[in-house]
Amino acid sequence: MENTLLQKLLDKQVLPKEELVQLLLGTSPQGLFDAADQVRKQYVGDGVYLRGLIEFSSYCKNDCMYCGLRKSNMHAQRYRLSPPQIISTAQQAVALGYKTIVLQSGEDLWFDTDKLCAIVREIKKMDVAITLSIGEKSREEYAAYRAAGANRYLLRIETTDKNLYEKLDPQMSFENRVRCLQDLKELGYEVGSGSLVGLPGQTLESLADDLLFFKNLPVDMAGIGPFIPHPHTPLKNETTNGHFELSLKMMALMRL
Ligand code: SF4
Repeated sequence: MENTLLQKLLDKQVLPKEELVQLLLGTSPQGLFDAADQVRKQYVGDGVYLRGLIEFSSYCKNDCMYCGLRKSNMHAQRYRLSPPQIISTAQQAVALGYKTIVLQSGEDLWFDTDKLCAIVREIKKMDVAITLSIGEKSREEYAAYRAAGANRYLLRIETTDKNLYEKLDPQMSFENRVRCLQDLKELGYEVGSGSLVGLPGQTLESLADDLLFFKNLPVDMAGIGPFIPHPHTPLKNETTNGHFELSLKMMALMRL
């Protein structure tokens, strides 16, 4: 059964939701992993591409239940790099040979559009690709970063189950998250999204929906990883059993 579905996936590069669920349930995933590895080899080879990732602020206005940076976590020691510190860090990365700079932070309102665009313009002068990972913004803000020189944007949907999303990300709206991803695509960014695998209340059906969502957008990159409970969040006592293998299956299905 698993082999038949895998062959069908290889032939069609898509499967209906129920058949994706069957593969997520599968008890002998090695064939799936091997097939995904072949595709990985074919398209990107064996090289490892390094990115200069600058995590420039750990402040966040949001309160996602699974995240150690959530605003209610009073144990977190917060920091924020100044714009000159961010630019000089990028200079060091470029001097070391990095070709892509990734600017990542919580949703920190101290960095308004003008400040962010000024930083992006300075780094762009270093002749590198720039990826932003700074959360939900308006279409106008995304357009401004793009005009300043940003090329790529990472914004994980985390889960396409709207009820679960809004339960785990209080005060955030699933529709707005999707709107952000659509705006980013329309503005010409290379877009990365992804899922957290093993969230409490998440079903295999909703993981299959995640895969179809990524295919339909379509995303250019996807970060898929296991949910690991953070000790200073409301989800600290949740289990992690089986999340790692399930994440590998999701990653393999995503590639295929
Ligand atoms: S928006 Fe991002 S950084 Fe902020 S709490 Fe949620 S997951 Fe964490």
